[in-house]
Amino acid sequence: MLRSPAFLATLTFLAVALGARVAQAPWTEQFPGSYPRVHAPADARFEFLPDEIRIHLDEETKSGRIIVFAHAADGSLLGLLKPIVDGAVTVRRGDLADYRLAVRGRDVGEHRLLKAMDRYVEREDMLERILDARAKGLRFGVQRCLYPICNRCLDGCKSVMRGDFPISMRVGERGNVEPVFAKGSCPRCGKCFVWCPSGVIRDSGSLTN
Ligand code: SF4
Ligand code: SF4
Repeated sequence: MLRSPAFLATLTFLAVALGARVAQAPWTEQFPGSYPRVHAPADARFEFLPDEIRIHLDEETKSGRIIVFAHAADGSLLGLLKPIVDGAVTVRRGDLADYRLAVRGRDVGEHRLLKAMDRYVEREDMLERILDARAKGLRFGVQRCLYPICNRCLDGCKSVMRGDFPISMRVGERGNVEPVFAKGSCPRCGKCFVWCPSGVIRDSGSLTN
């Protein structure tokens, strides 16, 4: 009876069904660490000078760099990574954007890096783009999070999660891109805030999110 084709077929069916059930089971393991939290967006004062824009920051970032961004009328966002020197960033005429990011409402879409190894594939003068955004009432500013140049938190999360990532990128109220977390679905592995180079994601020190 144990070797009958019908019994073996039933056994095989049960094994496949059990395997599929296990593969679809939600991730429930919790790590001993605390939940991540997102640091508030940077405050900055823009000083418009004849051939440059000086941006005075309220505080340094962990990486010593920050992104200057400007929204465009076509629904994209242009960004330029700049170093912070003496608490300020200077955008000069001829400083070209590093990337273009598709945005729609709060949603973040595909991005395109504008700088290839030895040339720019698209030349967008960041000073002009900021002045343009200012004239058209579009948002511009600074962004602590280095996305899409940096992707570490998403990579870290993907290395521990199976499918539904608690972390994603959204456009914040000031027009900057920042990470957001889906409450309740993070198993507290801590990789996002350990790997974040800019200090945007931090250890909340809390076991309740
Ligand atoms: S990397 Fe993902 S799973 Fe780990 S703490 Fe951050 S959001 Fe949670
Ligand atoms: S690791 Fe930090 S800087 Fe990099 S994308 Fe994530 S939040 Fe932004």
